[in-house]
Amino acid sequence: MLRRLDNPWGIDLWLLVSDIRQPHLGGNKYYKLLGYLETARTERKQHLITMAGAHSNHLRAFAALTRQHGLTATAIIRGDELSDESRQSAEIRFARTLGVECIFVTRAFYRQLREADTTTGRTALFPGVDFGSAVFVPEGGLGLPGITGVKTWAAAAQGFETIWLAVATGTTAAGFLAATKSPTRVAGVAVLKNAAAIRRNICLLAPGGDARFDLVEDFAATFGRASPELTAIAAEFSARWQVTLDTTYMAKVIQALSVAAKQGRVRGKTLVVYTYNE
Ligand SMILES: *Cc1c(COP(=O)(O)O)cnc(C)c1O
Repeated sequence: MLRRLDNPWGIDLWLLVSDIRQPHLGGNKYYKLLGYLETARTERKQHLITMAGAHSNHLRAFAALTRQHGLTATAIIRGDELSDESRQSAEIRFARTLGVECIFVTRAFYRQLREADTTTGRTALFPGVDFGSAVFVPEGGLGLPGITGVKTWAAAAQGFETIWLAVATGTTAAGFLAATKSPTRVAGVAVLKNAAAIRRNICLLAPGGDARFDLVEDFAATFGRASPELTAIAAEFSARWQVTLDTTYMAKVIQALSVAAKQGRVRGKTLVVYTYNE
């Protein structure tokens, strides 16, 4: 669904929000998971396994969607100290409440799992987990199945001059590139300092799409406390537009857009993608 946004920069600004209005679903993590759900259906599998950081939106969407579809769900979580319940994040507690089996591993182990790109490799790391009979969902839904659902959502983004969105793995940006064509450009605001990985993922998932992709790197940071400026932007525009802008992703997009608009670099019909899910 497209919404026009009144704004202090005098630009022709729109917001793409999801039509799904259920808690924890409807953000980009939901759309990225749809393709993996489809894989489970065609391969007749009842079990999804993923890997996630303690505070990830991916973990919330994974829990909500697998529960909704009555699937068995396992999440391998970064940080073995989190097996101590008193240290578990809201996202982990939510996932466990919904029946997701959470396995807590050291950062080193987690890194090895991220690099293991076959069922055999993953099984060697975790002999107790039955990867063979499950669909594996990489961290953040990164991968080709991850863009199928995003492409459907992104159909509404055609005809815009520029599409702004937050980028971590680049999967969502790739879906928007795959669903649109020249002269539409995608401006991805990196939230992490991982430009090389982003470009690699975009080239892999949306071949040729990188020619219409601009990576904005000035707002990337390591995860942590938001700056006072970012917090102020989140508060101002959440109230103005009546949506929740989180400080990890959405507020950074608005910050980057605001800087570009003030410099006169934003022209034509401009779209911001609301990737967050509450
Ligand atoms: C995960 C996330 C992103 C980044 O998505 P990628 O497909 O990994 O680039 C953007 N916005 C929000 C709100 C997210 O949770």
